[in-house]
Amino acid sequence: MQRKLIWLLPFLCFAGYRLPAQPLQTFPLSKVTLLDGPFLRAQQVDLQYILSLDPDRLLAPFLKDAGIPPLKENYGNWESGGLDGHTAGHYLSALSTMYASTGNGECLQRLDYMLEWLDSCQQKNGNGYVGGVPNGHALWKEISEGNPKAVSKRWVPLYNIHKLYAGLFHAYTYAGSEKALDILTRLTEWFFQLTAPLTDDQIQEMLKVEHGGMNEVLAQVGQITGEKKYLDLAVRMSHRSLLDPLMQKKVTLEGLHANTQIPKVAGFKFIADAKGDRDWDDASAFFWKTVTDQWTVSIGGNSVKEHFHPARDFSSAIQLNEGPETCNTYNMLHLTEYLYLSDPQTVYMDYYEKALFNHILSSQHPTKGGFVYFTPMRPRHYRVYSQPQETFWCCVGTGMENHAKYGQMIYAHDEQSMYVNLFIASQLDWKDKGIQITQNTRFPYSNKTALSFQLQEPTRLDLKIRVPEWANPQEIRVSIGKRKMKDVPIAGGYIVLSREWRDEDEVELEFPMHIGLEYLPDGSSWASIKYGPVVLAAISDSTGLDSLFASGSRWGHIARGPYYPIEESPRVVSVQKDFSARIKPFDKEKLEFKMPALIRPKKYKNLILRPFFEIHEARYILYWPVDGGG
Ligand SMILES: [Zn+2]
Repeated sequence: MQRKLIWLLPFLCFAGYRLPAQPLQTFPLSKVTLLDGPFLRAQQVDLQYILSLDPDRLLAPFLKDAGIPPLKENYGNWESGGLDGHTAGHYLSALSTMYASTGNGECLQRLDYMLEWLDSCQQKNGNGYVGGVPNGHALWKEISEGNPKAVSKRWVPLYNIHKLYAGLFHAYTYAGSEKALDILTRLTEWFFQLTAPLTDDQIQEMLKVEHGGMNEVLAQVGQITGEKKYLDLAVRMSHRSLLDPLMQKKVTLEGLHANTQIPKVAGFKFIADAKGDRDWDDASAFFWKTVTDQWTVSIGGNSVKEHFHPARDFSSAIQLNEGPETCNTYNMLHLTEYLYLSDPQTVYMDYYEKALFNHILSSQHPTKGGFVYFTPMRPRHYRVYSQPQETFWCCVGTGMENHAKYGQMIYAHDEQSMYVNLFIASQLDWKDKGIQITQNTRFPYSNKTALSFQLQEPTRLDLKIRVPEWANPQEIRVSIGKRKMKDVPIAGGYIVLSREWRDEDEVELEFPMHIGLEYLPDGSSWASIKYGPVVLAAISDSTGLDSLFASGSRWGHIARGPYYPIEESPRVVSVQKDFSARIKPFDKEKLEFKMPALIRPKKYKNLILRPFFEIHEARYILYWPVDGGG
């Protein structure tokens, strides 16, 4: 029982300060159960991947650093190349969220097992520290003695330990582990002591090196423990060279390593809410808007070769095999969640849907498991997948987490209202109100969704269903029971159904879907084709898929098979920039479409457009060069 209650803690008042209640809250992940569909299947495949990993091997770097003989050897790849231990932090997060989502007992057992060992390592170290950074003690000593630049001699050590901080935080908030909170609190106090002798300038020097969301997690620990000094440290650990220009609404992202920046901003936003700081809040929202407007492609991802390329020139995005990185979208979704809950605009959930359906869902092999790092936009290129015992990239860590928490943002609520934001088959148990809601849908393979109520007693409630940006509000149909509504009440981007609900009430919604186009943000003649929110792509062939399942080599995450010439790629020929009306259904049940009259060379005219998230082990065309497209 305690496990369920713990999640409420962050919303309560603590001795030091309190986080202002957000207008909306999510439901505990344990109260949202996925039903049959692509998301449940992805969750199950992820569970197998998670369980195939060996906790003893993930723990080895921590034991070694604490001077305890390891039970087994480290894994290879990034786990023994300097970033030792980063995966264990993600593993705690993945086990915690997977346990919350599915109730899988093996996940909880493994979580407890990992925490026991991490606790032992921390006790052995004796100063509150626990970590996998090789020879970490020497590094931390150098920093505390006034050399913050020491972080640049290692492979992003603060980024590395942030994964453990976040994993412990998730073990506490999602799985209710008090032990995790104890370890986390001691680890936070260690970091407080470590950085206490440093000046603000020295800390800013240290923050030049990638450090994940250290500011965020320090503020979170401050929030849980009520220790204001941790919130103050979180402020000190916020990178001013990013924050200051954002506060002045200046866009200075070009050339920056993208995934270094996004977690910093999630931290700015968390701190903004904790302190009630409007300037930090605006800066976070401005960053989000800038990235989604100027750097985001149709699948919801951003960056090329991990960096923000020139905003007015996406040619590198089209040419290179290192397209959007999955970690970036993981972090953008996290930031989006914060922004949406404090300012419930549907634009945030429109992005969330786009990125979840098209990037995140597509980034795991649907049967064999394995995660994607880069998703090339280059026509006729392909993606490679991780292997559980071989590859330990950042995107493996975030990948394990991504598919474990699909229930996170389907619904939200305040006292009076219940929000349905995503059309994903699921069941919600709103315990406090004695309400269960089942969402039955085959979306996106059907444009309908049905919400049925199971109530202990009649309950007055505003049911708010997101009007997605891809749907024409005039075409939306709503029925309650057998009765079709004549006028669909829409306010603030939501269909609002206010009434006293009774047991077995059912609401059916229909959102007609249409073909749409999304050109690259730089205005160049490259179009991505969508059906509703679903990005459609075409398989060109399955040749030359070198190292499709990556080995443990340092650069195995890049699809290094041959480039096929772009000038020989299938292209669209159309004098009209909007050629969507000429794309015809081929098999609508499967969301398959064709456009033979538009494609050149003619030999490609029978290419089939299908959901990008279904395309695996193949070369594909996701963005089409448009000749005569203006
Ligand atoms: Zn990554």
